[in-house]
Amino acid sequence: MGEPQVVVRISALRDIIGAWRRENLRIGMIPTMGALHEGHLSLVREARRRTERVIVTLFVNPAQFAATEDLGAYPRALDADLAKLAEVRADILFAPELAEIYPADFDTRVSVGGPSAGLETDFRAHFFGGVTTVVTKLLLIGLPDEAYFGEKDFQQLLVVRKLVRDLDVPTAIVGCPTVREPDGLAMSSRNAYLDAADRARAPRLHAILQAIAAGLRAGTDAAAELARGRTALTEAGFDVDYLDLRDAETLAPRTDAVAGPARLLAAARLGSTRLIDNVAV
Ligand code: AMP
Repeated sequence: MGEPQVVVRISALRDIIGAWRRENLRIGMIPTMGALHEGHLSLVREARRRTERVIVTLFVNPAQFAATEDLGAYPRALDADLAKLAEVRADILFAPELAEIYPADFDTRVSVGGPSAGLETDFRAHFFGGVTTVVTKLLLIGLPDEAYFGEKDFQQLLVVRKLVRDLDVPTAIVGCPTVREPDGLAMSSRNAYLDAADRARAPRLHAILQAIAAGLRAGTDAAAELARGRTALTEAGFDVDYLDLRDAETLAPRTDAVAGPARLLAAARLGSTRLIDNVAV
């Protein structure tokens, strides 16, 4: 199987999709920022199983980075990405230039309430506005039958679900489980920033989340369990942005894990690298 066809223009992508539609083919889309790893590839494989044509998008979206963040340093690896996408048999890599997505006179912002509140937004106020604007554009460009998002970015997954519901976008959002390194660290393009010492510490984030989740399932007091977790993270060398228990469907704050499905979410920094992770409770 060869590499996917690289498409850079919206009009060209629409022509291809139009031809697929006339053949009644079901289309899946996986939005990414590239530097692909097994987490991304798991979404492509799921799309391959569930739909007949698979479009991966690659756009490092400036709108979701603050001026102080790592837009310039964000890893870029087009050739390696294409080789990986050949293995999982993606049909198209849509890799538009900046001006194709945001022409000079671009003036619109899509803003989602509900699950956007708190957590990431408390530390990256610009983030979801950038994500929801570009995801809206990508979904409207392709109108895929299904779009795939990772549970790794759990708040983002719920925000995208809300966006699609509120705007009646005719795309089903499919959430896919977090793919981890053998030591438990959630795969992320940003893991490449970790030096050896921080890479050795990083799996503690998932281990501590799992320990808290086990405590909550056993019925220990949530506030005490979360306080112990924050201390454990700090002792493991993390600067904790947040560690919170939330409703797994609405992301509303939860004080216990017994009143329906809950999710434990965390963001913590090792040096200048920010890691996020979450587990079901
Ligand atoms: P990104 O390129 O980081 O914007 O991620 C693109 C998509 O891949 C998002 O839906 C992410 O949630 C998903 N993703 C990233 N890392 C993982 C992972 N370790 N497991 C599953 N999905 C992931």
